[in-house]
Amino acid sequence: MHLEGGCYCGKLRYAIDGEPMMMGQCHCRECQYISGGSPNVFIAFPIPAVTYTKGTPKTFMREDLDAAATREFCETCGTHTTTRPQGFPAVIVKVGTLDDPSVFAPGVIIQAADKQAFHRIPEGVPVFERFPG
Ligand SMILES: [Zn+2]
Ligand SMILES: [Zn+2]
Repeated sequence: MHLEGGCYCGKLRYAIDGEPMMMGQCHCRECQYISGGSPNVFIAFPIPAVTYTKGTPKTFMREDLDAAATREFCETCGTHTTTRPQGFPAVIVKVGTLDDPSVFAPGVIIQAADKQAFHRIPEGVPVFERFPG
């Protein structure tokens, strides 16, 4: 599939050419900071599928965690566009930054161990306390 997206202010834009590896909803504590408190919805793509077409993202990685993800965001408006996890060769795209977020449908629920009581899990979707397999 071909998709495009970018940050809230438009200084950062990306294009995707490839098939999703996973679509999901993540309840981890880290995602709660970035989403504003709700679970984070994401689509994972193979690394070569995602390219920045405008601007260069600022990156951040926590140094106090063993396998911290590299987080990419717009240095002007702060929108978090993408994450590069360690140990999983993928670019994780934040669904809200797609031009058309309606392509998303949750296929898996991950990190349910960190779920808050006010989070909602859709019916009929496999739920994992941490990660599948
Ligand atoms: Zn921006
Ligand atoms: Zn998460």
